[in-house]
Amino acid sequence: MSYDLIIKNGKVILDTEAVITDVAVTNGKIVAIGANLGDAKEVIDASGLIVSPGMVDAHVHISEPGRTEWEGYETGTRAAAKGGVTSFIEMPLNQLPATIDRESLNLKFDAAKGKLSVDVALFGGLVPHNLDRLNELNEDGVAAYKCFLATCGFDGVDNDFRNVDDYSFFAGMQKIAKMDKILAIHAENALICDELGKVAQAEGKTLAKDYVASRPVFTEVEAVRRAIYLAKIAGCQIHICHLSTPEGVEEVTRARNEGQKVTCESCTHYFAIDEEQFETIGTTAKCAPPLRDKANQERLWAKLFAGEIDFVTSDHSPCPPDMKIGNAFTAWGGISGLQNNVDIMFDEAVQKRGMELTQFAKLIASNPADLYKLTNKGHIAIGKDADFALIHPNAPYTLAAEDLEYRHKISPYVGRTIGAQVVATILRGSVIYDKEDGVRDTHEGSFVLQNIKQTVQ
Ligand SMILES: [Zn+2]
Repeated sequence: MSYDLIIKNGKVILDTEAVITDVAVTNGKIVAIGANLGDAKEVIDASGLIVSPGMVDAHVHISEPGRTEWEGYETGTRAAAKGGVTSFIEMPLNQLPATIDRESLNLKFDAAKGKLSVDVALFGGLVPHNLDRLNELNEDGVAAYKCFLATCGFDGVDNDFRNVDDYSFFAGMQKIAKMDKILAIHAENALICDELGKVAQAEGKTLAKDYVASRPVFTEVEAVRRAIYLAKIAGCQIHICHLSTPEGVEEVTRARNEGQKVTCESCTHYFAIDEEQFETIGTTAKCAPPLRDKANQERLWAKLFAGEIDFVTSDHSPCPPDMKIGNAFTAWGGISGLQNNVDIMFDEAVQKRGMELTQFAKLIASNPADLYKLTNKGHIAIGKDADFALIHPNAPYTLAAEDLEYRHKISPYVGRTIGAQVVATILRGSVIYDKEDGVRDTHEGSFVLQNIKQTVQ
């Protein structure tokens, strides 16, 4: 019997151990794992490489349609491919219209035709005015829902995303619970952050540390507590996005220990960049919640190692260069990081801090796939999609702007020396990126939809 592909001699990260072995693929699926598997049409020698499940980045903003000049499907998914991200879950905001009903979801499907280099699942939005449209999003295949407790959306742009008020938040959770879905939440106290920001600006403050101080730790913790409490009453499973503080994580852990269904994520940038570096790098490192100080970062690492943070995402949220001009308050808050999750986290977590490979794979792939029921994704195991990132450990390189596949060659990681490299990415058995030939132009990605028993190209 001949397979389509065998990846030989790599250190393969399975669910419970990492071992040097071979993996065979046929029809895009993993069909055998072990030594002496036999023949294949294509053989990749992964000697000296780590064979990781491809990353499942559960938090990515692609602004197409409507704001494709910020980031589009073509460039966004190419960056994913180059970075070892074989699938991501796309946020319902930044594109126009925001993804909050059937029509806007279908605009996304149309806009992406022929442009996807990796697989994409979708969040539907929960906003104050779409409570009676949430079911459409579920029927059309969203993986989960997303809402903002912090202020979002541009004034005067009617079809932009909006943060929930307490009522729509609560009533939305009741509806989402009935559909047996998860609500992912941006948890920061809107009013306090907004007003502290106004006060600081009125006082002429413009520095990174002033911006960080305008979104203090308690504004994250308060919003997490409120979300957890209301979700408990509504009976809704929730997920807290991009936590920046160990105190926020502690709230999630406490609720989970009390039996509530709640999970959380943090982002590569909270582990890779601190407040002092934000000051030096400038507004390309601005995000919300903000980057925090070194002591906070060390305690966040401890939470990650302890398993209290379910997974790591990029919260890739790009914009055109002119929106990053200005000061720490006026510049757009969003970091372009999709292409450098896998190499930076491998370097920082595995190489510098000694994380087990199995934990690394859970944090970048298995846990997000399991939570959002992307059942074919996130594991190197028989029957799963043959999605891999091949990582060359201890192979430092310095990231240059021209290395980036994003629409805009901007990232706070430009100039950073990263101690590992993604040298090949494989999506359902096809090489979609390798270091020699770059990202393929084959656009083999598909939407991964729930409930519907098919994927749509
Ligand atoms: Zn986001």
